[in-house]
Amino acid sequence: MKHAGLIVVLVMLQAPLGAQAPRPVSANDQRARDIFEQLININTTGSSGSTTIAATAMAKRLTDAGFPAADVQVIGREGSRNFNLVARFRGTGSEKPILLLSHIDVVEAKREDWSVDPFTFLERDGFFYGRGTMDVKDGSAILVATLVRLKQEGYRPNRDLILALTTGEEGGSDYNGVEWLLANHRDLIDAAFVINMDAGDPVILNGRRLMRTVQASEKVYVTFKLEVHNPGGHSSLPPKDNAIYRLAAALGRLSAYEFPAQLNEITRASFTRWAQLQQGQLATDMAAVAQATPDTAAIRRLSDMSPLYNAQLRTTCVATELAGGHAENALPQSASATVNCRMLPGTPSAEVQSTLSRVVNDTAVTVSVVTAAIPSPPSPLKPEIMDPVERVTKRLWNIPVVPVMETGATDGLYLRNAGIPVYGVSGVFVDINDIRAHGRDERIGVQDYYDGAEYIYQLVKSVSGGR
Ligand SMILES: [Zn+2]
Repeated sequence: MKHAGLIVVLVMLQAPLGAQAPRPVSANDQRARDIFEQLININTTGSSGSTTIAATAMAKRLTDAGFPAADVQVIGREGSRNFNLVARFRGTGSEKPILLLSHIDVVEAKREDWSVDPFTFLERDGFFYGRGTMDVKDGSAILVATLVRLKQEGYRPNRDLILALTTGEEGGSDYNGVEWLLANHRDLIDAAFVINMDAGDPVILNGRRLMRTVQASEKVYVTFKLEVHNPGGHSSLPPKDNAIYRLAAALGRLSAYEFPAQLNEITRASFTRWAQLQQGQLATDMAAVAQATPDTAAIRRLSDMSPLYNAQLRTTCVATELAGGHAENALPQSASATVNCRMLPGTPSAEVQSTLSRVVNDTAVTVSVVTAAIPSPPSPLKPEIMDPVERVTKRLWNIPVVPVMETGATDGLYLRNAGIPVYGVSGVFVDINDIRAHGRDERIGVQDYYDGAEYIYQLVKSVSGGR
């Protein structure tokens, strides 16, 4: 999962400023780069790769740096070639541990689709190229580099820092790392909260470092099927009752329906901060929807302006697939449609199902669950995470911090569902007009990577009693 969809709506007026000025490569930069290079060069795709090899290589980095072997585990389901790395940097234990999360599996990449080899780390023209440079081996390498650096400094955190580099996030392999770890080794990863590298990117727009997002919530995925059955018959003698017409009419009613707008702590904070980055009516409307009693006219204008604003404001359901009939000269015996919903966190899926039935308003049309929801409650914007994020962001970048609700879903949902708050706080700036995650010639900026490594190092220190 790596996208910045909702950010694209922020059309800014600033002129391009060009790339960040490079600074000399420090010993810390070099180490972060070496680890990154090693990870990119290990194929971890679901089809032909192995996250066990990557996890083992990262485990060695940690034990070489002085981590006791007992605190560094490469684990997974027996017989799989896709294991996870879980390591523990022991602190004084005065606070509950923090989990530092990133995944090490990557999406498939075909050599012939790329202009360079996706599994050979390459620096060219100010960018690092390779599958996973953006999603999300950059974050994985940065976390390993951070723990090695802290260990070498002799740093003593006030809480254990748990590192989990997981498998299976992109699908296509044999199982889900986070889900499996929670089910089988919850004790190893149990934490007060999670800092996730796979969401919440700092954003570059038009060459300018614009904002630091913090992903604190995500919408919940659920899919329904609308279905009509009918005795059918010969198409030369059609009665009024027809499965396809009934379904079509039901879908027509659904298309006209809009779930009520509803703000939560995260989306209120988003609109408040976005309003400060905007001008004119848009800024006014964004501020107005963030009020305790949101302005209904402003909600209307924002909903109509962009599907991205609309999706921030309400649960959405949309028809995505259609099937019906069995012969061109026969009356349809069945017709069905798939309806995919993205629910605001905290919405019971049964409530959405009954809303669909009510809107469809035809007892001949059944509404059933195809893919059940996995709840993902919003993670509260607590000072123990937000204060360090604000502090380090101001110190290093001096840009606004914007909490966001993602309309897609990440592995964070399993942890949120298990009662562990998750904050997507990646360190590496992403140019929203150059997002190549899952695509060809994936890359990130060299300086953005080094700056991200420094940011995460300072953030991890800041949330564990350091400066
Ligand atoms: Zn990802």
